[in-house]
Amino acid sequence: MDLKIERVKSPKKLADDSNLGFGQIFTDHMFNMDYTPESGWHNPRIEPYGPIVMDPATMVLHYGQAIFEGLKAYRTRSGKIQLFRPERNMARFNRSAQLVCIPEVDEAFALDALKRLIAIEQDWVPRAPETSLYIRPTIVAMDPYLGVRPSHTYRFFIIVSPVGAYYPEGFNPVKIWVTDKYVRAVRGGLGEAKTPANYAASLYGAEVAKKAGYTQVLWLDALEHRSIEEVGTMNIFFVIRGELVTPPLGGSILPGITRDSVLALARHWDSPVAERPITIEEIMATHENGSLEEIFGSGTAAVISPVSHLAWRDEVLTVGDGGVGPMAHKFYKAITDIQYGRAEDPFGWVVAVEVEK
Ligand SMILES: *Cc1c(COP(=O)(O)O)cnc(C)c1O
Repeated sequence: MDLKIERVKSPKKLADDSNLGFGQIFTDHMFNMDYTPESGWHNPRIEPYGPIVMDPATMVLHYGQAIFEGLKAYRTRSGKIQLFRPERNMARFNRSAQLVCIPEVDEAFALDALKRLIAIEQDWVPRAPETSLYIRPTIVAMDPYLGVRPSHTYRFFIIVSPVGAYYPEGFNPVKIWVTDKYVRAVRGGLGEAKTPANYAASLYGAEVAKKAGYTQVLWLDALEHRSIEEVGTMNIFFVIRGELVTPPLGGSILPGITRDSVLALARHWDSPVAERPITIEEIMATHENGSLEEIFGSGTAAVISPVSHLAWRDEVLTVGDGGVGPMAHKFYKAITDIQYGRAEDPFGWVVAVEVEK
């Protein structure tokens, strides 16, 4: 398939690297591709960034049949642009597609298109420390139809957004609120897909947490409200007596690429790690007996997010001294050093984006 490229006539003014925030600034171009049953995925093109015009009956607006991904392009000190394990994002994109009956894309083609878009938008990859270009591949159901069934037609698009440092003033530990009332996902449902339904399901609980003074929600399993699943839109890790513990991927948890990278690094360092079910009661007990050393979340946006407090029923537990633990710090540094090309990449995680200039 030939990728058509149409460039903008007058590019926007580049964003100021020192004040990017998250997900608010969009670049000059986007990738688009369409699906019909007759032609499959066709008409791939990079064209000026702009609105998608939809019939009010378009299925995605009513039934949420959509998937997305989130990854970043990083600029190295020498000015090169690189991606971090992007083939994993493409594989997960297709896994999400299966779960909501969206036709799969050719992963190699999609990754190539993504790289071409970044090469065209190369000047938008920011240079200030710990900034990046966030990449959002998305597929939405396009049939104008009000019956409930999988759509016959789809739009696949990729937009990119320069984003600021997540921790401009150093690590900022978060306070999290454990809920046994609200649930994000249930086994057999959509929890392992990056699909809008999961985020809609998480909003109300997150608002309740915010009103109580907490930044994020810690989700428990939907059936018994005991096993820990994930935190906000991050996977979660505990350090218990020197051992790194994280819940296994059982279908209701999003299989994070940062999670996988943390586990790979820990194994590479010969640190003790366990992927096993862990209940909130066990965490409270480890805190009680002094063996709970650290809690942190992992995800593309923040990389590692240390947790200082955990509120569960009437108890508020302070993790360690409420500061940033050594493990959180070590994983954050190791992962970002590879992403920004400051350290060797023994795993072959980094993928270069070739640019013309
Ligand atoms: C994206 C996401 C994660 C983290 O995945 P990464 O690949 O590490 O960015 C974790 N949980 C949820 C619910 C997510 O949407």
